[in-house]
Amino acid sequence: MSRTDWVREIEARLAGGAKRDEPLARYTAYRIGGPARLLATPKDQEQLGWLVKFCRTEGIELFVLGRGSNVLVSDAGFAGVVVRMESSAGDIVIEEDQVVAGAGVELHALVERTCARGLAGLERLVGIPGSVGGAAVMNAGAFGAEFFDHLVALEIMTPYGETRLLGPDDVPHGYRTGFDPRSGIVLSASLRLVAGDPRELQAEISELLRKRWEKQPLEYPSCGSVFKRPPGDYAGRLIEACGLKGLQKGRAKVSEKHANFIINLGGATAEDVLWLMREIRRRVSEKFGILLEPEVRLVGFDRPVEELLAV
Ligand SMILES: Cc1cc2nc3c(=O)[nH]c(=O)nc-3n(C[C@H](O)[C@H](O)[C@H](O)COP(=O)(O)OP(=O)(O)OC[C@H]3O[C@@H](n4cnc5c(N)ncnc54)[C@H](O)[C@@H]3O)c2cc1C
Repeated sequence: MSRTDWVREIEARLAGGAKRDEPLARYTAYRIGGPARLLATPKDQEQLGWLVKFCRTEGIELFVLGRGSNVLVSDAGFAGVVVRMESSAGDIVIEEDQVVAGAGVELHALVERTCARGLAGLERLVGIPGSVGGAAVMNAGAFGAEFFDHLVALEIMTPYGETRLLGPDDVPHGYRTGFDPRSGIVLSASLRLVAGDPRELQAEISELLRKRWEKQPLEYPSCGSVFKRPPGDYAGRLIEACGLKGLQKGRAKVSEKHANFIINLGGATAEDVLWLMREIRRRVSEKFGILLEPEVRLVGFDRPVEELLAV
């Protein structure tokens, strides 16, 4: 099927839920990224299932975007279909200590809602600007807590359009590693939380948000931490020790506030950020013999990550 044909077919089926050549910079925390050939927002699971099957049979590349807070999208964009989940998976249902949240729900909203209901367990994840789906994929975490700590089950859609329930033991997970999106799409997550005092939880949330603003350059677009923590150390400490704070390429810069953040000063390109990532890796490797592993996911590049970031 030609490119024009598959674009038309998806547009017809999603009736208003698809946009051609949509700049992805609008949907990423970095405010960086070229256009998606088609940006699809299925309105329910049936449409999503159809889309997944259609893309698989036609050999069209499909990428699921959450809140775009952990991706660096190439300047060329993405030649296939980018799927957004808000409409098809946007609910939070709370029954006693059990919470089911759709993949498109903002993690921040989930934390606020559960804490207000006197349910503890997610409060340390406050301020992580991702979705529930993205948190399940990244095993998002902060201040010693991780998304998988309270996970009971993930509902997923396989690449064949079937739904499945997976327990935490079915999903190999660890530090910043969770569900592998090559195995499907996260539809929702069920969590079991514990009783807590809403006022105490709210106070904790406020304090944690204050700490984030103090330590992180939240006034600029970024993807949060660019590199994972190497065993026994901190990427930020190593980068700072190499004297790289303030290093700039184009409109991208290694933050002076937190060396593991590369910020977009406005108008940065993906190539600018990549250049800084390579330079950081090279300098840290030369000085400490440690090869930093990226936490940010690279999307739409024509070469594998190892090649793009080779030092
Ligand atoms: C200012 C800032 C601070 C941050 N602080 C933290 C922090 O403290 N701790 C932390 O862990 N992270 C942090 N992050 C990174 C980021 O917010 C998390 O990794 C988050 O979990 C990503 O969620 P997302 O919805 O934005 O995912 P995206 O960035 O949209 O996608 C990330 C990956 O998840 C996949 N994905 C998303 N949704 C689905 C789905 N439904 N099904 C299948 N695959 C899916 C994507 O395909 C991609 O591979 C920070 C980012 C920023 C910008």
